[in-house]
Amino acid sequence: ALGTDWVLAWVRATAAVIAENRAELVRLDREIGDGDHGENLDRGFTAVLGKLDGLAPDATPADVLKLVATTLISTVGGAAGPLYGTAYLKASAAVKDSGELDPAALVAALTAARDGIVSRGKAEPGDKTMVDAWTPAVDAAAAAEQEGAEVGAILDAAASAAERGAAETEPLVARKGRASYLGERAIGHRDPGAQSSALILRAAADTAA
Ligand code: ADP
Ligand code: MG
Ligand code: MG
Repeated sequence: ALGTDWVLAWVRATAAVIAENRAELVRLDREIGDGDHGENLDRGFTAVLGKLDGLAPDATPADVLKLVATTLISTVGGAAGPLYGTAYLKASAAVKDSGELDPAALVAALTAARDGIVSRGKAEPGDKTMVDAWTPAVDAAAAAEQEGAEVGAILDAAASAAERGAAETEPLVARKGRASYLGERAIGHRDPGAQSSALILRAAADTAA
């Protein structure tokens, strides 16, 4: 099972991978949006890093996830701020009684995150948004858990599915967000939010391995 130490390592790894990929996320968002997705997320996760030291020594996984949520909501802005903020907030609520995350709690957290994004943004699979990374990730995580996989293998399945889902946004026309204004001109470009979602989930798998 994964405890608070893992959640902290995941959050730190996420901040690092978002910083490394900031320019790439900006490039993707320049193609089909307004070019700020990398900056928005880097600002948010840098702010999160600055707040981790203020956590109580007995902070639970839910406490860390909630701190990430509130910080992203207040610092990221745009479409992605409230969407990711809701994702972490719902994940926090889903594990509020867990000192450690076992396979069932992990799948519950991922499912709650995806459901939060969907209820906030109303996008469906195939709309060329971050939902196209999260939905296959949740499905793969749930299937792995059903087969008796451990937490590391569940997160690896989720990350791989998210990476495939992000790649599969390339041929799509967007039906939500700024890219939806472009019609067929969005074809051939990967959705930036699906790409950042895949990076976040790969960071989760890497830190659990
Ligand atoms: P903005 O578009 O306001 O500049 P960002 O660039 O930070 O915000 O984030 C854009 C990303 O947000 C998109 O690539 C897409 O994945 C995601 N997004 C936008 N609208 C929605 C929505 N309604 N549902 C889910 N995801 C969305
Ligand atoms: Mg943008
Ligand atoms: Mg913007």
